[in-house]
Amino acid sequence: MSKHDHPTFDLAARPASNALSGSAAPTPVPDSAALDRIEAEGAQREVTGGCLCGTVRFAAKLRGHGYSACHCAECRAWAGGPVLSVRTSWFVLTAGEDKVGFHRASETLERSFCTCCGGHLSYRLVSQSGLRDNSLAMLGALDDCETLPLNAELHADARLSSLGPLGAPTQIDTATMTARRDMKLKTMTA
Ligand SMILES: [Zn+2]
Ligand SMILES: [Zn+2]
Repeated sequence: MSKHDHPTFDLAARPASNALSGSAAPTPVPDSAALDRIEAEGAQREVTGGCLCGTVRFAAKLRGHGYSACHCAECRAWAGGPVLSVRTSWFVLTAGEDKVGFHRASETLERSFCTCCGGHLSYRLVSQSGLRDNSLAMLGALDDCETLPLNAELHADARLSSLGPLGAPTQIDTATMTARRDMKLKTMTA
């Protein structure tokens, strides 16, 4: 079975011509050039993973090489601390699709988890029109999470003062992250 045979979260709901058609591309956020570089670098390799109890399994293709740590308050409340995640160009469920739960912490962000064990799986942006972007998978859910480097700390200004910097070469603050999210949503809804 190829990856294309697996059920996806929502790709069927995506229009055939994607978002970029129609209007001018939004202006890039200069301060986030380092993150763009990270996403473009490295092997675009395929990975597998799943939840704690093994009911839900997925396959994904990494976008860029390495993972990021997000210090935002939402991630902290959801995961109990910084969320470590990898960017993906696609993310497909290969087992346990009916056991996946979703939580919308905000209007534009949807997180998925296993309803059997609570294990965190992914999170993605949701546009106003309902388009979804399968953009992140949890690092700890990957079968092999030891070989990836920490590339960036996101919302670094919101990091718990008791933690201290984690040593990522790129530090992105909340203002830049918000601008990136808004730009991406605009692209998705254009
Ligand atoms: Zn599970
Ligand atoms: Zn976060």
